[in-house]
Amino acid sequence: MKNGFTTTILHSDLESPIEHFSVHKPMHAAVAFGYPDARDLAKVFKGEAPGYAYGRQGNPTTTALEVKISKMEDGIATACFSTGMAAIAATFVALLRAGDHVVSSSFLFGNTNSLFGTFNTLGCEISFVDATDVENVARAIRANTRLVFVETIANPRTQVADLARIGELCASHGLLYVVDNTMTSPYLYQPKRNKAGLIINSLTKYIGGHGNALGGAVTDTGLFDWTRFSNIYDNYKNAKPALWGILQIRKKGLRDVGSTLAAEPAHRLATGAETLALRMEKSSDNALQLARFLAGHPKVTKVYYPGLEDHPQHRLAKELFKTFGALMSIELADGIDCFDFLNRLKLVISASHLGDNRTLAIPVAHTIYWEMGPQRRAEMGIADSLIRLSIGIEDLDDLKADFAQGLNG
Ligand SMILES: *Cc1c(COP(=O)(O)O)cnc(C)c1O
Repeated sequence: MKNGFTTTILHSDLESPIEHFSVHKPMHAAVAFGYPDARDLAKVFKGEAPGYAYGRQGNPTTTALEVKISKMEDGIATACFSTGMAAIAATFVALLRAGDHVVSSSFLFGNTNSLFGTFNTLGCEISFVDATDVENVARAIRANTRLVFVETIANPRTQVADLARIGELCASHGLLYVVDNTMTSPYLYQPKRNKAGLIINSLTKYIGGHGNALGGAVTDTGLFDWTRFSNIYDNYKNAKPALWGILQIRKKGLRDVGSTLAAEPAHRLATGAETLALRMEKSSDNALQLARFLAGHPKVTKVYYPGLEDHPQHRLAKELFKTFGALMSIELADGIDCFDFLNRLKLVISASHLGDNRTLAIPVAHTIYWEMGPQRRAEMGIADSLIRLSIGIEDLDDLKADFAQGLNG
């Protein structure tokens, strides 16, 4: 990026001519693309010419968003999907085979945890480790380890992975390093700086920001040497080696599974992305102020937020990220029922989802982490009374007043 972050996103579409001098890439809803010369259609199928063949494999509006995400992550190519989960699933379907081993952080988004359980039953073994310390990752690596998977700031307890040292470790072993950057977004953190090979983003969260469209993305940073990856199919080796990984993810993941990001949500996500930096600054600032306010409140016994000095990875977060993000979790004093507290809040919405402009709260053990059961919840440090807060961009005084009345009620 030679311009700044926001300038680059705002002017990305205009780098190629758009009809009628439109300033946005239009929504291309067509499923089929008609070629005046049928030979050109064949060339597109063979990968000999750029172009579109069928809507399941992409459309020009989604491509425009992919270009933006590549710029945000300083990557060489991005593939978009209908959801963040689809992006993770497609990556695993495309790149793993039975008998492979994966090292994953044990602090995971709930549905990612469930998905990895499915891969376990399909013959891939996943080792879960505490990724806040690189030593745990190092100990879990085996001869058949194909990739290492971590999230930046974990949900809901906000553990920060030892991202830089894990990157060094993967580089020294020639291992594919996959980072789910959803919680930080490319504005707060670029995993490429710490040698990630692939970056996952749920676009549904901060990048889209408005809670009105689902989407996901996989970005190849260009750092991983795909010629050292044993699972690339021969027929994808005609492309440049740097593109083998993303090509196989597009073919085996996107095309064959069909989790396509349609033009309309792609357009909404691209519009939302224009203000990513502004929203992240405001919501992170709100979050830091609120975390301090809540930490000092007698009715709150614990606040988990990387921006607080007593957070176990505070220094790590300070080194790695531009701000400390907008997600935190709290535990309430004995005798306060978490449901009663949530019901007293007037502005803060009891809802799943995070990275929205609006502040959302959810009692995680009873909702998004219910299915995984008490043992796995205990391993992840999720108490029954834990409430996750995704802080939005509301005026800070209004949020403070709402929490104050909710706690004192
Ligand atoms: C939400 C989320 C996902 C999944 O994204 P969807 O778009 O909801 O499918 C994956 N990883 C993390 C860290 C998330 O927060």
